[in-house]
Amino acid sequence: MNAIFERLRDLLQLFFPETCDVCGNSLRYGEHILCTDCLLDIPLIHLHNLEHNPVEELFAGSVPFERATAFFNYQKHTQYAHLVHKLKYQGREDIGTLLGELFGVALQKSGFLTGIDAIVPIPLHPKRQRKRGYNQSAVLAQGIANITGIAILENAVIRAVNTKTQTRKNKEERVQNVQGIFEVAVPSQLDGKHILILDDVITTGATCISCAETILHHSNAKSISFASIALAQR
Ligand SMILES: [Zn+2]
Repeated sequence: MNAIFERLRDLLQLFFPETCDVCGNSLRYGEHILCTDCLLDIPLIHLHNLEHNPVEELFAGSVPFERATAFFNYQKHTQYAHLVHKLKYQGREDIGTLLGELFGVALQKSGFLTGIDAIVPIPLHPKRQRKRGYNQSAVLAQGIANITGIAILENAVIRAVNTKTQTRKNKEERVQNVQGIFEVAVPSQLDGKHILILDDVITTGATCISCAETILHHSNAKSISFASIALAQR
């Protein structure tokens, strides 16, 4: 059945070729979502092993943590930023899975994941998740898990407060906006573990810090690290 499906898909592609989600050119055989050129052009950060990298700098002095990293640079109005937009607002879970898998390969190669026991994707408020149909950070986490086999804890932490968008807020407003919005629902899932908090885009880090504070105060998690698929430099 699978073989028939694959042949059908190939045939369909012949007449209705899929296009690259970054440059819009037709995808060639074996390419998926991004063409090879755009895959190679992702503005990667390459900082998994650099101490005091810009993501770690962002979290310095906020909460105790082990490591922090991000996959690529997020620059507004670029096609790569648009990829994240499609993941969040256009139902493109497949983009999240692909980016998560690519990130998973990079993280694994760099040794960043050594000692990390589980991933906690930043939770969405249930209302927003119902509207969107999925949590984009959980989709990214699933991509990382597909490569690394690391467990995902999707229900250990919940978002109790539905915040408004952070986009038009400055750093202080962002910190206030997300303070106390998370709750630990199942502390036993976190106890004794080195937790990787995963976000889609890190801007000031305020959301991740709030989530980390909640985990550290309300469970016996051993330690925290941070990762996000994109780092928005301000
Ligand atoms: Zn392309």
